[in-house]
Amino acid sequence: MKTSRFPGFYNMTVEERRQLLTTMDTFTDEEKGYLFSNEPLPTDTADKMIENVVGTFPLPLGLGLNFLINGKEYVIPMAIEEPSVVASASYIAKTVRNAGGFTTEATDRVMIGQIQVVGCPDFKAAKEAVLKEKDALIADANAAYPSLVARGGGAEDLEVRVLNEESDSKYGQMLILHVYINTCDAMGANIINTMVESLAPTVETITEGKVYLRILSNYPDRCLARARCVIPPELLQTGSYTGEEVRDGVIHAYEFAASDPYRAVTHNKGIMNGIDPIVIATGNDWRAVEAGAHAHAARFGKYSSMTEWSKDEDGNLVGELELPMSVGTVGGSTHVHPISKLAYKILDVDSAQELAQVIVSVGLAQNLGALKALATDGIQKGHMALHSRSVAIAAGATGEMIDIIAERLVDEKEIRVGKAKEMVEEYIK
Ligand code: NDP
Repeated sequence: MKTSRFPGFYNMTVEERRQLLTTMDTFTDEEKGYLFSNEPLPTDTADKMIENVVGTFPLPLGLGLNFLINGKEYVIPMAIEEPSVVASASYIAKTVRNAGGFTTEATDRVMIGQIQVVGCPDFKAAKEAVLKEKDALIADANAAYPSLVARGGGAEDLEVRVLNEESDSKYGQMLILHVYINTCDAMGANIINTMVESLAPTVETITEGKVYLRILSNYPDRCLARARCVIPPELLQTGSYTGEEVRDGVIHAYEFAASDPYRAVTHNKGIMNGIDPIVIATGNDWRAVEAGAHAHAARFGKYSSMTEWSKDEDGNLVGELELPMSVGTVGGSTHVHPISKLAYKILDVDSAQELAQVIVSVGLAQNLGALKALATDGIQKGHMALHSRSVAIAAGATGEMIDIIAERLVDEKEIRVGKAKEMVEEYIK
């Protein structure tokens, strides 16, 4: 059984945690400066990232611990405002580590560029004409981004669909090209958009139609990452609940989400609680990841659970998560935000494929954390205790008052801002 690299991290001061962190990797002095700085994203940099900048909006950055994935140890940088997420991910990662860790895999990083053509005189003929020129179009797309091809990526395949062929369709017919592009270690949005835009004039000539949209799809269903864990029931025992009871409760909770979209949305939100923080910390586009994940959850025609939980023949709990993962380790904002640069050092991933596999492992851990709590004591017990500090701050507590009032709120089992305000007034009298 392996032990954590950061024993006692939870009980350290922020300063002690930062000191420990700087010993785990070869941070440059400049990077250490950002880690200890009160302005980790300089306003000048922020002003170059988006428009109309007036400041920055910091989030807490925590570390998810105990992750063992394909036999490799990972420390997970997580940027999130919600209490209990980092604690829950780390706690479940420890359970999974004791069961041998997560196993993961990923497909090649093949993203999709879409081209919309309307007004073709004959849509079937236009489709055939495009397919006849498939190799030439792929070559043209690659000519628009030779550096990607030199890296071993580039356009690999092309498909064509005709939408709204039915005579009673509410919408007009259109021809849609899908250009499949391996974007290597980049998320690829700008790369893909450049490539598909370059094809537009040729596509118009071939189809005799008019090209409108030329943009990536945020549902890259050939760019998938999968995580799996197998946990013996004895590792799931909690309080008065046996491991078998917890396992069965998790499976019932999954079956609820798999059967009911109202539950699936909340179930999946819990998965994204684990995924978004690492996507944000690594400077990736979390809206793109969110959009793709929810589309994948509805791929069989009904919105459902992103994860699957079952029992194997030995009675172990088996969890699986497969999601499209349009993230990069280069490009976009990944190395613009100074803290993202640090995040890559903390994570120690070599490729976008590896990052994608780490991300789905954190999502799977987060899901188990939520389902295990829901199937036993309910989430409020653990969550509200951690939330009590935010409640105290919202009520105006500062400095040492925060922990004192948070503790009193928990003791009196009334974790409410109104109650906390009364306590703050009492404290400062
Ligand atoms: P970039 O435009 O920054 O392109 C990535 C660059 O990284 C490439 O141009 C390439 O440059 C360089 N690179 C270096 N090493 C590698 C490698 N190993 N593999 C691949 N590329 C490498 O970013 P993306 O195209 O990834 O676009 C991502 C950004 O686009 C995100 O910020 C996203 O928010 C945004 N976006 C998202 C949209 C959406 O999701 N709908 C729409 C539009 C934009 P070179 O080959 O010259 O070295």
